[in-house]
Amino acid sequence: MSTHFLQAPAVARLSRWGLLDRIIDSDCPPINDLLLEVDGQDMPVPFEGSDLIPALFAPRRTVLDKILVDAAREAGAEVKEGFYVEELVQEDGRVTGVTGRTGDGERVTEHAKVVIGADGRHSVVAEKAGAAFVERVEPVSCGYYGYFTGDFPERTEFRIKPDHLQISFPTHQAQVIIAQWPPDMFKTVRKNPEEHLRQAWAGSEVGDALSSAKLTEKVLGSADIPNFVRQSWGPGWALAGDAVYQKDPAPADGINDAYRGAENLTKALDDGLSGRVEMEEALAGYAQTIEDARKRTLPLTIQVSSFTEPPPVKFQAFMELTAWHAEDQMAIEAGVHA
Ligand SMILES: Cc1cc2nc3c(=O)[nH]c(=O)nc-3n(C[C@H](O)[C@H](O)[C@H](O)COP(=O)(O)OP(=O)(O)OC[C@H]3O[C@@H](n4cnc5c(N)ncnc54)[C@H](O)[C@@H]3O)c2cc1C
Repeated sequence: MSTHFLQAPAVARLSRWGLLDRIIDSDCPPINDLLLEVDGQDMPVPFEGSDLIPALFAPRRTVLDKILVDAAREAGAEVKEGFYVEELVQEDGRVTGVTGRTGDGERVTEHAKVVIGADGRHSVVAEKAGAAFVERVEPVSCGYYGYFTGDFPERTEFRIKPDHLQISFPTHQAQVIIAQWPPDMFKTVRKNPEEHLRQAWAGSEVGDALSSAKLTEKVLGSADIPNFVRQSWGPGWALAGDAVYQKDPAPADGINDAYRGAENLTKALDDGLSGRVEMEEALAGYAQTIEDARKRTLPLTIQVSSFTEPPPVKFQAFMELTAWHAEDQMAIEAGVHA
């Protein structure tokens, strides 16, 4: 379950990895216009493109993730899809591999110098390695999203209302319509999420388009999205993506952050495995990047996503996250790892 708006640094990284053309070729609509709303005021924010980031994109995960997996395979990775990790192999307090089962149910053990848990917020690797929570905040919102076809404005909208958030953007052959509410609204909203999505957007251009739009698949949502940062590595293991830093989806920062972390972890592993730097030192450097992100972005994410803050405070936090993205984007454009 995930929507898929990519912040500018994520698009820049896809570009740097040579994969953005594949997204463009998949007929993913480019996004050049953003509209923010706070306190009833609309603020258009045209996106200033660059060679690296000609536009923003929000590709379906089924398209985006396949492009990444194919690229990993082409780059020489041996990919085993449908493999489920169940346990870690440990020797003398060090992780040395995994055991799991293939799609056919065959039990397999694999050995590795370092096991990377990029297995999402319910990470088995984190659990079995005993990765401690550095910080954990229980869910501050609940949300639902749906895919609709209709006559929608071709832009991303992020509307901060006192009692809910509205987010919308175009993707492959559909418009993604999202709303988030305080967690205690979940029982009410889940009775008819499609109707609540439509009600949340009523009275806007998107709402007008929604009134005659067609829902193309089941509306999905959750009230179980906590915010946390875990210990990021230990002897023989490391975590990446949501496994190490999981956050409310309101600022649409999860994929972006996962790509940033993947790059930083790859660099640390390359340094460690090549012997340029002791592995422990290299992974400690990676841990510092997670810690820097936690300190700077976790409080802002909570402010944007929770309903205890008034809209102007949420907006300010959103703009501070945008400034963080701009710094990251500049570092990528300058060819350095953030
Ligand atoms: C409702 C919702 C909306 C969101 N919207 C956005 C958005 O618009 N933009 C954005 O940037 N982010 C968004 N996010 C966040 C985003 O989905 C995550 O941050 C991102 O997917 C993290 O990537 P990941 O690779 O770490 O984890 P995941 O994408 O969760 O991938 C983990 C992978 O590990 C596999 N796996 C899990 N356990 C095992 C196991 N034991 N063995 C083998 N494989 C395993 C899973 O099958 C999966 O393929 C949203 C999240 C939610 C819940």
